[in-house]
Amino acid sequence: IDPIKENYIRRVPGCVFSHATPTPLKTQLQLVSASHDVLENILDLNPIEEANPVFAKFIAGNQLLPGSVTIAHRYGGYQFGYWADQLGDGRAITLGEYVNSKGNRWELQLKGAGKTPYSRNGDGRAVLRSSIREYLCSEAMHALGIPTSRAAAIVVSKDMVVRDQFYNGRMKYEPTAVVLRLAPTWFRIGSLEILTREKEIKNLKQVVDFTIEHHMPTIPQGNYLKFLETVLEQSAALVSLWMAHGFTHGVLNTDNMSLLSITIDYGPFGFLDSYNPSFVPNHSDDEGRYSYLNQPKIFKWNMARLADALQPLLSAEEQKEAAATIGRFDEIYQQQFISIFRRKLGLSKAAKDEDKLVQLLLDMMQQRRADFTQTFRQLGAIHLDNIELGEEHWALHSITTHPSFSEFISLYQKIVQETGISDEERCRVMNGVNPRYVLHNWMAEAAIRQAEKDDFHLTHLLSKVLSKPYDKDDEAESLGFSNPPPDWACSLRVSCSS
Ligand code: AMP
Ligand code: MG
Ligand code: MG
Repeated sequence: IDPIKENYIRRVPGCVFSHATPTPLKTQLQLVSASHDVLENILDLNPIEEANPVFAKFIAGNQLLPGSVTIAHRYGGYQFGYWADQLGDGRAITLGEYVNSKGNRWELQLKGAGKTPYSRNGDGRAVLRSSIREYLCSEAMHALGIPTSRAAAIVVSKDMVVRDQFYNGRMKYEPTAVVLRLAPTWFRIGSLEILTREKEIKNLKQVVDFTIEHHMPTIPQGNYLKFLETVLEQSAALVSLWMAHGFTHGVLNTDNMSLLSITIDYGPFGFLDSYNPSFVPNHSDDEGRYSYLNQPKIFKWNMARLADALQPLLSAEEQKEAAATIGRFDEIYQQQFISIFRRKLGLSKAAKDEDKLVQLLLDMMQQRRADFTQTFRQLGAIHLDNIELGEEHWALHSITTHPSFSEFISLYQKIVQETGISDEERCRVMNGVNPRYVLHNWMAEAAIRQAEKDDFHLTHLLSKVLSKPYDKDDEAESLGFSNPPPDWACSLRVSCSS
């Protein structure tokens, strides 16, 4: 027995969930914001319920529904490439499963609801700062059509905790918050890894069978190879969507990789500002393992870890096939990537030189550090045969002077003509695919600074604007949400300390 390890991690062998009860917040609860889309379309609630004081108590974990059996999940994972052993829900508590009026299953989970058997030396709490980021980004990703966990509402209290943030050289006390978040299931690669590592094969089989039965009904029971293929294909689709929107997750450990290939665990994520493929949003990721550009490679590595975790359920022959499945990741990803970038350029069908077209554009953008989001958006607001740039096309100015620009435009025109779409149609398609607004760190930061002074106006505004990211909004424009980042944004750093 290693006493340090034994006392640091509470071993919970032989189980998949443990009982865990939310610890009520002690001081003044305040509802920060609620997603009307989630309340109405997932939880079958009338949004006016958010004004009911019981609603805030429910979100805070201060009041449970009668008969609730609340649980925390035991999982493990590889963190930054190394096996980290048992992790588990250290500050997330599942309230139960809700099957809504559409017949869809959703697991309701409180993030930041206090200690669980998996909290190790953590306090089980989440600060307002990280909760606002998770709340806003989950809903923004959904509005962009990116598979993700959802966020129903966020409540803040005056219970204070200390993280690694400083204010005037002193440790800063931060208010704690709770987010009610939802996913069809929160199972992740790490859910299986811990069971395989600990040789708990009966539980392993049960978790995979459950996931297939409830969430992948087209897969025949017991076909674990098909399960691997499905997760791999859906994951390739997910990461290509991230790449297309400049989203960088920041902590792609195997415990943060959903078996349903939805985006989970919003920590130190970031959207690209100017196009720098080596962008690393998490300031403690020194080696840049989880940079923007590395994400597809990391997904593939994580898929290989999933195959390892499934090994006890696969025959020798199937294990060989599993290895071949992993080998197909790059090709599947490349197909997904090109089909998304084709749409980002407004092209309705595959064209001969489309790969070259995308590469020409990305190379120019990288060399000129062009704004990732606005370059695509603004390309959908000009005429290819008569390029006139106004002030509103600021992101394009840098690339139009690039030596490859005329080659790019000629090829673009040629492909547009070949595919038989008009320039108007191209622009229309592009405006429905390339958002005008994404949640840049500086916008989240502005909302957080205001919220820490009990003013939630920007949080509400961002939640509204990002739920319709393709539509121009006057207030968003006046605050520069489709402009280059303000000067103060370049000093922003985000970390896992949340
Ligand atoms: P993450 O970096 O968010 O993926 O979390 C990694 C692990 O640390 C998970 O097991 C979390 O539940 C746990 N954890 C993170 N923050 C806390 C906290 N404040 N209290 C307890 N556990 C935590
Ligand atoms: Mg996590
Ligand atoms: Mg996290």
